[in-house]
Amino acid sequence: MSTATTSTTTWAAVVALGLISTVVLVGGAMSLEASQVDGPPAGTVSDTGDAVPFTGASGGCTISDPTGTGGCVTPTTAWLLQQASAHFGRQPTSCWDAHAWNPTSDHPKGRGCDITFGTAGRFPGDADKAAGWTFASWLVANAKALRVSYVIWQGQIWSAARADEGWRTYTGGGVYDPTSPVGGHYDHVHVSVLP
Ligand SMILES: [Zn+2]
Repeated sequence: MSTATTSTTTWAAVVALGLISTVVLVGGAMSLEASQVDGPPAGTVSDTGDAVPFTGASGGCTISDPTGTGGCVTPTTAWLLQQASAHFGRQPTSCWDAHAWNPTSDHPKGRGCDITFGTAGRFPGDADKAAGWTFASWLVANAKALRVSYVIWQGQIWSAARADEGWRTYTGGGVYDPTSPVGGHYDHVHVSVLP
């Protein structure tokens, strides 16, 4: 009964407003579509303080991975981890990994880290999703200081080389299923730093 009343009212309004309504509806649909590949949603807090810039020399995978993988990270990665911890506290993070199935990965080079939001392997709830966007936005805002190469989160990628394009749809690079929680990076933020 109430559903029928609502749709009748909506339909009447659309008919009454004619062209104007049509334009508004199309505009709304377009903005909804754009928001899926347009980075952090409105209201995302990214002002969590500037990172202290990395001023050391870039180097190889020479530092024992602070995230306890038993592997190594580069000096730049170690600095990013220290800064992330200073601004966000300790987060569930894993950097070095053999990643044998993906030879182009930055993890075995000690230049990539995964930060989990919510439960690994599952799509996050609203709070974890928002927290991930806050963190991802901070990485992007401090990309120069932290020598960030790219960030992947929520099926989207931001890269320093294409910074003017903002967040773009993440395709999985032919290696990952971009629709899955893990492959599409819905359960974790991936960050890579420059060599
Ligand atoms: Zn990763």
